[in-house]
Amino acid sequence: MLHTQNAAPPAPAPFAARRQQIEALRGQFTGLNTPYPRADGTTGPRVYLDSAASNLRFQGAEAVVDEAMQHYANTHSHLHHGARIMTEAYKQAHETVRQFVGAPETHTAIFCGTGVTGGLNRMARVLAAQRPERDVAITTLMEHHANDLPHRKHMREVVHVPLEMDPDGNAGRVDMHALRTAIKEHGDRLNYVAVTAASNVTGVVNPVHEIAALAHEVGALCVVDAAQSAAHLPISVAGAAPNEALDVVCLSGHKIYAPGSPGVIIARKDLFERHEPEVVGGGIVEFVDAKRYDVTPSLPEREEAGTPNLPGSLLLGATLRILQRVGMDAVEADEQALTQYAMSALNALPGLTIYGSHRLEVAERIGVITFNLHDLPHGLVTAALNDYFGIAVRNECFCAQPFVRQLLGIADAKGIAPSDCTDACSTRAQPGMVRISFGLYNTESDVDAAVEALQDLTSRPDWYRERYRPVGDGSGDWVHTEFEAPPAAQFDLLDASDRWLDANAPTSS
Ligand code: PMP
Repeated sequence: MLHTQNAAPPAPAPFAARRQQIEALRGQFTGLNTPYPRADGTTGPRVYLDSAASNLRFQGAEAVVDEAMQHYANTHSHLHHGARIMTEAYKQAHETVRQFVGAPETHTAIFCGTGVTGGLNRMARVLAAQRPERDVAITTLMEHHANDLPHRKHMREVVHVPLEMDPDGNAGRVDMHALRTAIKEHGDRLNYVAVTAASNVTGVVNPVHEIAALAHEVGALCVVDAAQSAAHLPISVAGAAPNEALDVVCLSGHKIYAPGSPGVIIARKDLFERHEPEVVGGGIVEFVDAKRYDVTPSLPEREEAGTPNLPGSLLLGATLRILQRVGMDAVEADEQALTQYAMSALNALPGLTIYGSHRLEVAERIGVITFNLHDLPHGLVTAALNDYFGIAVRNECFCAQPFVRQLLGIADAKGIAPSDCTDACSTRAQPGMVRISFGLYNTESDVDAAVEALQDLTSRPDWYRERYRPVGDGSGDWVHTEFEAPPAAQFDLLDASDRWLDANAPTSS
C-alpha cells in the first residue's frame, strides 16, 4: 500500500502573515524576467501573463528536488538507502496531493503522465467500462476540449449544458436549471457529469459541489477538471457533506508551478477496484508466469505501472506542500485583488471587450481575462504585445473552440458552428481572442504594462497594422514584416549542450 500518513502541516500562520509570505515568494520563479529582444531594437525583461497555459517553476520546490536527487534511485529497488528514501518520498508526494485537495481516505491520488488530458481520457475509459449500462455523460458548453472529446469518444451520448447569462447578457457559470433538467432527463443512463472548476476562457468558477450533489441524486458521478482552478482556489474533494464529495478530480502539475511533473487523478478507490488497469507492466504485479499475471489490489500502484517520473512527482509534492502552508485562501485573496485591478483597468480602455460575466456577485472568476480590441485581430495584438513590449499572452481559441465561437457570436446556443463557417472561420481570419492570465508572481505593475501597451495599440491601430501580416495558416496568427527573433538565437539545446561539454573538457597536460 503506497499511501503513508504524512505529518499534518503545522498550524497555519495568521492570514495577514501568510499574505506577506506571498510577497516573499513572488520573485522566486524561474524565467520571470528573462530578457528578450524587441522590435524597436532594445532588449527588456519579459512580462509573463500566460499562466493559464503553463505557469513558471517555483524555485523553492526545485531546491527541495535537488536535495532529493542526492538520493536518486528507482522506487522498484527496495533495500539500498537511496531506493528506500525515494520510495518514501514518492509516497509523501502522493499523500501531499491528497491532502492539498482535501480528499478523504476513500480516494487515491494517481500520477499519470500527460496532465489533465491524460487523466480525463483514462477516467472516461474506466467509467465507460465500469458502468456500460450508463452510456450518457453530461458536460457543459464552457469546457476545454480535454473535458469534452474523451467523453464523446467513450460514451454513447454527450449532452452539452448551456451557460447562465448574467443581467448584462454575458456568459457566467453553467446554467444550473438546465443542468438539473438534463440530469433528471437522463437519470438511469447518466454515468457522470464532467465539469470544469474554472473556465480557461472566462475564468468563471462553477459550483462543483452543488453539481456533485445533483449528479449523486440519480446515481451518477461528478468528474471535475481542476486544470485551471488548482493554482488559484482552495479545493475540497470531500465537500461540506457526503453527497457533495467529488468522485474524480484531475489536475496538471505544469499549471501549478511544477512544469515537468505528471498530472494527477484524485479519485474514489472503488472506481478502480474491479477494473483491469489500463497500463500493465513492472511495479504492479504480485505474481507472473508465462500463463498468467496477478495485479496488486493496492492503489495507486495498480494504476501506475512502470518507473515513475520521480523528479516531477517530488517537484509537485514539494510545491503543493509549500502552497498548502501558505494557504490557498491567501493565494486566492491575493489573486482576486489583482484580477479586480486588471478588470477595472482593462474595462476603462475604449474599444476593448472583455468576454464572460463581469459581475462577481453572480460569477466568481479566477485571474483569467480574455478580450478583443475592436480595431485589431487577436493574432496581431498578441504578436505586437510580445514584439514591442515583451508581454507574453496567449491568443486563438485556447482549446475551447465551441465556447470561444459562442462568445464571439458565431455558434448557436448549442455550440454548433454554422455549416458555412467560411468567412468568420477563414484561414486569414480564424476567430479567437487574447488572454491575459496571472500567477503568484504577477503584480499591478505587470497589469499596468499590459494596459499601457494596449492603449498604444488602440491609439494607432494603422501603425501596427502596417507592420504585420497574417501568417495565413489557419491559426489566425500574425507576424511582424521585418522584426525577427529566431528562437535559436536565444536558446539552442544542442549549442547549450556543446558549450557545457567544451567548458568541462579535460585539460591537456
Ligand atoms: N482543462 C482546462 C480547463 C485547461 O485549461 C487545460 C489546459 N489548457 C486542460 C484541461 C488540459 O490540460 P493539459 O494540457 O495539462 O492536459
